[in-house]
Amino acid sequence: MNFSELGLHPFVMKALEAAGYTEPTDVQAQAVPAALTGADLLVSAQTGSGKTAAFMLPSLCRLAEPSAVRGQGPRILVLTPTRELAQQVEKAARTYGSEFRKMRTACLVGGAPYGPQLQQLSQPVDVVVATPGRLMDHMQRGKIDYSRLEVLVLDEADRMLDMGFIDDIQMIVANTPATRQTLLFSATLDGVVGKLARELTRDAQRIEVARKEDAEAQIDQKLHFFDDPMHKMRLLDSLVRDATLKQAVVFTATKAGAEDLSEELRDRGFLAEALHGDMPQHKRTRTLDRVRNGRVQFLVATDVAARGIDVAGISHVINFDAPRQAEDYVHRIGRTGRAGRSGTAVTLVGFRERHLVRNIERYTGQPIEVATIPGLEPTIKPRPEGFKSGAGKPWGDKPGYKGKRPGSGSGDWKAKSGGGWKDGQSKPWGDKPAYKGGADKPAYKPTGDKPHAAAGQQQAHKPKRAERFW
Ligand code: AMP
Repeated sequence: MNFSELGLHPFVMKALEAAGYTEPTDVQAQAVPAALTGADLLVSAQTGSGKTAAFMLPSLCRLAEPSAVRGQGPRILVLTPTRELAQQVEKAARTYGSEFRKMRTACLVGGAPYGPQLQQLSQPVDVVVATPGRLMDHMQRGKIDYSRLEVLVLDEADRMLDMGFIDDIQMIVANTPATRQTLLFSATLDGVVGKLARELTRDAQRIEVARKEDAEAQIDQKLHFFDDPMHKMRLLDSLVRDATLKQAVVFTATKAGAEDLSEELRDRGFLAEALHGDMPQHKRTRTLDRVRNGRVQFLVATDVAARGIDVAGISHVINFDAPRQAEDYVHRIGRTGRAGRSGTAVTLVGFRERHLVRNIERYTGQPIEVATIPGLEPTIKPRPEGFKSGAGKPWGDKPGYKGKRPGSGSGDWKAKSGGGWKDGQSKPWGDKPAYKGGADKPAYKPTGDKPHAAAGQQQAHKPKRAERFW
């Protein structure tokens, strides 16, 4: 299929040519013609599917005609869960709308100063992309005029609900004209999202785009089981030295974990920076710019901060802390394999976190390969019979398991794990004495005859700062 068959305005077509797009993606092929009829849409589409253009292209076509209503408020409003995604969407609006000479856009996100946003709102604006919290602030100050609003887009609606924006969203929607077109995009349309979707739309057309097999096929997904925090750190140390790794997003469970791990990687000579929700917006933007222009090799991020990151050079995603939600896994791995490239996604999993893997595999419908690194194999083997057959049996077929259930008696998992550490703790190495990754750190003594010695040597080499980056 060609874009010319979708019925888009010539201005939008011209911008698409300039952007170098030739064929619409699945979600675009289905959602664009449907949205151009003016119908409400409920679209289940993953990140990386081309969903931004799917709602932005048909919405922008409206700008070819002047607004039928006087006023200076937005004609198109897009709500997104995070600042980064909002910035990305605003950028997309400017790209696809570049032929509309007088088009004005505004990005209203938290963490950014009010001054420039108020300045933007003091003039006529066509497209507003906002996070719900900051938009509410502007509404409460009486700065938003919805009289001209024609299209309301809820992007990543499931995520906005996860983040507790339900009340804000309902308040915002209640203030918009009933005549609006509503386009709701979400990874899932089930459960609470489905309920919200029914409340906010009228006779909506439902579009379910099959999970992006192509994109998923291009992401090589692997799991590494770890015994304890030290082992986990050793695995990470080995993974970040992979010669095929150009740039990576490393995910942690907490903001403090992101700070600590980025510091740890810097200590080991890598170009690493943290990205999380506690950072002021200008710092987040600067960090992302540094990732884009290749000055940061490892972006250590939390889920929320990483939403919407679209950097073609990201070759790897490393889930240092396994995601709690299967949806988060899909979003995380979607940071690699962008723009038609292939990517690698590696997840580090503690034995007590096996259920998380099962959830992910059920959700994606794909088993994840269990990998090991020579010299860094886990010493604990889970009981095969502890797993019920079906989707997600990554370890079940491992031959020769004769061991005990982890933590059940001698050869105890807890003894090996160094006591009270719990899986998913944000700073697992934090209380360990002086593990700095240099040659002078105390040698990790693996229990028994387990083959960690080679890894110990690997760790003893601390690279010079520039040595690791291309
Ligand atoms: P999204 O799912 O909206 O985050 O888009 C994922 C990536 O695909 C972005 O880098 C877009 O610029 C790119 N993209 C979107 N639509 C197309 C298309 N039709 N052809 C090529 N690339 C596209």
